[in-house]
Amino acid sequence: MPKIISHEFIKNPLQQSRLNKKSLCDYVINIASGCLHGCTFCYVPSTPSIRTNQERLKQNGVVDPQMDWGQYLFVRDEVAEKLDVVLSRKRVWNVTESGRGVVLLCSGTDPYQNLAVARVTRAVVKVLLKHNKRVRILTRSPLWTNDLDILVHPNITVGMSLPFINDELGRSIEPAAPLTTDRYKALKVGKEAGCRIYVALAPTPSVLVKSDFENHFEILSQLEPEVMFWEPINARGTNGKRMLKAGLEFCRDVMSKKAWATNFLQQWEMVEDAASKSNCSELLHIWPDPQLKGFIEPLMVEKWLYKPTIEQWK
Ligand code: SF4
Repeated sequence: MPKIISHEFIKNPLQQSRLNKKSLCDYVINIASGCLHGCTFCYVPSTPSIRTNQERLKQNGVVDPQMDWGQYLFVRDEVAEKLDVVLSRKRVWNVTESGRGVVLLCSGTDPYQNLAVARVTRAVVKVLLKHNKRVRILTRSPLWTNDLDILVHPNITVGMSLPFINDELGRSIEPAAPLTTDRYKALKVGKEAGCRIYVALAPTPSVLVKSDFENHFEILSQLEPEVMFWEPINARGTNGKRMLKAGLEFCRDVMSKKAWATNFLQQWEMVEDAASKSNCSELLHIWPDPQLKGFIEPLMVEKWLYKPTIEQWK
């Protein structure tokens, strides 16, 4: 399918979120639907944001919203203006212990994937700061370093998804996303500029071994991020089909629930050991999956669900 890049309009860009269970936020704003990075493992096409909009996407030329993920992008150009109106009228702000009232940009797309989306993101951040809201950026693109003039702020933390630093592996799994080495450099630039930063080691592919995690934690710890989230790849949905279509045969090994859980637990142990060796255990924040409960002591999962991060918000 040729790439489709267009626009879309939405009534209310501010959505309450259940991602407080991952200690990320209480609200999300998605600047676009679709994502040109098209990561093979991406879970977004399986979420209601795409599944409940399949018909509309098809009417706009997307043949298969699941399998064609990465080939379409509908930018919501008016988000900042609409958000300003919504926030001016809003009287009640939801603040949970783990979500801390934070607004996440974005949960269903990348807020800095290209210049058009970055332009909207910049305007949205300004509106959120104007209304004194806490902001969490999550991206795979170094373009955010163009906005350091506004992102160096106590109410903003910027995170990059960096499951490993290996450009060859990155090209096979996240073919259209910026190089992992460039992401690391961007975090370094942001940190040196005084930006609050965090890292999402997510999702880690099953091909990583103990020494990969040790090297990764050693390098990331030098950045002194405020928190390091971690979760392994889950290839049990249509994302597994996309990974196989991209030639990622390794994902066959984790496609059953039992194999997925086994890999999750093996990597969990490696991650905790590696974090400990790099003296950053206190920064490690596990994103557990409730479906692990049949495979480990349920308390291990409960311990992490809704647990506030170590991050300090003023
Ligand atoms: S950058 Fe994020 S939203 Fe975009 S395809 Fe990759 S995982 Fe999905």
